Amino acid sequence: MKSGKNEKITIVGGGLSGPVMAMYLSEKGYRVDIYERRLDMRKTNISAGRSINLAVSKRGITALEEIGVFHKISSKLIPMYGRIIHDIDGSTRFMPYGRPDQYINSVSRSELNILLMTEAEKTDRIRILFQHSCSGMDLESGTVFITNEVNGDQVTLQGTPVIAADGSGSAVRESMIESGHISGSFDPLGHSYKELSIPPDKSDEFQLEPNALHIWPRGKFMLIALPNMDRSFTVTLFLPNTGDISFSTVRSLDDLNSLFEKNFPDILKLMPSLQTDYFSNPTGKLGTVRCSQWNVNESVLIGDAAHAVVPFFGQGMNASFEDCTVLNQMIDSSVGWKDLFESFSIKRKIDGDAIADMALENYIEMRDSVNKDRFLNQKDLERQLEIKYPDQFISRYAMVSFHQIPYSTVWERGKVQHKILDWIIENNSADTPVTAEAIEKEIKSKLSVLPLL
Ligand SMILES: Cc1cc2nc3c(=O)[nH]c(=O)nc-3n(C[C@H](O)[C@H](O)[C@H](O)COP(=O)(O)OP(=O)(O)OC[C@H]3O[C@@H](n4cnc5c(N)ncnc54)[C@H](O)[C@@H]3O)c2cc1C
Repeated sequence: MKSGKNEKITIVGGGLSGPVMAMYLSEKGYRVDIYERRLDMRKTNISAGRSINLAVSKRGITALEEIGVFHKISSKLIPMYGRIIHDIDGSTRFMPYGRPDQYINSVSRSELNILLMTEAEKTDRIRILFQHSCSGMDLESGTVFITNEVNGDQVTLQGTPVIAADGSGSAVRESMIESGHISGSFDPLGHSYKELSIPPDKSDEFQLEPNALHIWPRGKFMLIALPNMDRSFTVTLFLPNTGDISFSTVRSLDDLNSLFEKNFPDILKLMPSLQTDYFSNPTGKLGTVRCSQWNVNESVLIGDAAHAVVPFFGQGMNASFEDCTVLNQMIDSSVGWKDLFESFSIKRKIDGDAIADMALENYIEMRDSVNKDRFLNQKDLERQLEIKYPDQFISRYAMVSFHQIPYSTVWERGKVQHKILDWIIENNSADTPVTAEAIEKEIKSKLSVLPLL
């Protein structure tokens, strides 16, 4: 497509990916209107929703760099070099994410969202219309139905390409499903989350090591903590919705104290506001959105609207930003919006599906496997192989977080690598060790050399 020409594009949703997509489009000369249901969070004290902080890694950083805003947030990122596992007896173990120069970053969701909105509005080609809620679309005519939440006026928008970045409960996706153009589902995880906090200590210092993601894995449930710039930690409790230890059984002060005394005794003393946090913060639902395709005519879904994933790989936002990067790369070679959105959906949906599956698997790794000897042996071996075959054997975590290898490739290679690790561990014994030559033969025959993206 010929870039720009002042053509107008509608984006529904001004959360994390809406403004990123708008900035990519504005760079190409398009005019963009973003319709956002919420109030402007820069003017009112509202939450940016979903979680207080997030982990941003390579894919997200690339998009922020490409739209020219990364340098404005980089000083507000806290590097996390690995996981610190807290055992029930209070002992801790550090598990690096990768090489010493590889890390993910904790960032405040609201600061990032505010930065993105402010940067987007710096160009007169982007407008954000707050308190404008989309109730759905007529996909045949391309009409978007918007309600002005301030005065109740109904606005109908027609004739512009529509990019739906309206999150996991997307109204545009619902219209696509209801009109029979696509099929889609929201599969609940059966577990939910609650945000809690650890304040700084009396000297205004972090109460835990700041450069790590902390995990208290307890089999069927877990607690995690990510650092914030004000030296507090946001702690997230993940519990099943029902069952012995679940949100349905932790209902009173006694239940809560007993849960923490039995399972998280080391952190209890660091959380003076535990009770208030637990009983006043909402319980967030988790699940996976899957769709048969992401496009209908001149409309397309991106971000959580297309592929909300559970948060255990720290990739929902990173994947959503990468959607914007990929869509932007495809614009120039497409013949029109319909063609672009169709090609995008074909190319990218397999990656959305792959990260959704990997994120589900990672929940089991985080809450359970990290405590198992076999898993730890595999991790050790994986690290050795990664050092020896750096462009062939890269851990799945590193492929996801420190590279831009398509998620679908990561998913497939991850399975092959897992089998190789299993094969080595199962066949290795003191009497008949698996030789270095045999391992090399296995790796060279099963894993191609990766172009390092
Ligand atoms: C507990 C938790 C922790 C997470 N941690 C991480 C992490 O560490 N790393 C990571 O990469 N991802 C993480 N995620 C995922 C991340 O939050 C999402 O993937 C990301 O926010 C998706 O961006 P988005 O723009 O698609 O949707 P959102 O950020 O949800 O934005 C959607 C926007 O659309 C607006 N909207 C909704 N409906 C309408 C409507 N009808 N009309 C107009 N506007 C509408 C909303 O108000 C919102 O502003 C986490 C998620 C959760 C729940």
